[in-house]
Amino acid sequence: MRSAVIYSDIFLKHDLPTHPENALRLKYFMEPVGELQLPVIPPKQVSYELLKTIHSENYIQDVLIACRENAPGFFDPDTYYNSYTCNAALTAAGACELGVELLSSGEFEAVFCAVRPPGHHAERDRAMGFCIFNNVAVAAVKALSLGAKRVFIVDFDAHHGNGTQHAFYSTPEVFYFSTHQFPFYPGTGSERENNSHVLNVPLREGSGDSTFKRVYSITFREALRSFSPDVVLVSAGYDLHRDDPLTGLNVTDEGVRAVVEQVVEGAKEVGAPLLFTLEGGYNLNALKRCSRITFETLLSG
Ligand SMILES: [Zn+2]
Repeated sequence: MRSAVIYSDIFLKHDLPTHPENALRLKYFMEPVGELQLPVIPPKQVSYELLKTIHSENYIQDVLIACRENAPGFFDPDTYYNSYTCNAALTAAGACELGVELLSSGEFEAVFCAVRPPGHHAERDRAMGFCIFNNVAVAAVKALSLGAKRVFIVDFDAHHGNGTQHAFYSTPEVFYFSTHQFPFYPGTGSERENNSHVLNVPLREGSGDSTFKRVYSITFREALRSFSPDVVLVSAGYDLHRDDPLTGLNVTDEGVRAVVEQVVEGAKEVGAPLLFTLEGGYNLNALKRCSRITFETLLSG
């Protein structure tokens, strides 16, 4: 697949070295990008008009003011900010906006937005779980605005993407598919929340490769095929890996490769371009290996 990475050094400036969601993560993630010589494209900040389709204007103003006047600090017990955070968060969402534009133009078949802070826990009115703006939700709205009729979001982060599910709960044009450890943070993502375009697959601690291979080769592929989207967006959280210090899904390198292969093959089957955006993943060496696995799969797909 013709593939590119969207990345900016501004993502490294949002940092708290003692926190699991720190800048070293992205440095490790980007190493295979250089080794595999993928094109790297710089993003701009997201347009305000697009951002306010996902977040309230009051909340956006709160973020701007906090980073300017109160930095450093915390939006919630998990989610820190410093004076660079606003620029980083606006640029992370902007990377997703640009990624959709690049796919829409046909220049690339797959783009990976290598961004921080992550996004899938961010709600309309608040930061949550290391996330400030919901990057993948911004990508979905952008895709609809450029003419996509149906957008499929697959979220393989170990945590449920509560913010993404809530953003599109009454939007049947956007399908949300999530595998996640359950019961677990943030508490959402049970099968009871499923509807015609929300498919949560809650998984027990310790589930492992065999469960993921089954769910992605059967449940995910069937959902993707029947929805037949114009674009596939991926909340790529690598904290499903067995080496992750925060989670317990027990997926090996081989299991991660199987998941990514199903995502790539599924998108090819329905003829949809792919946008990945980085969510979690907190073991640095596992994250680097998962990066290599993802880009090898994209380049050979
Ligand atoms: Zn996560």
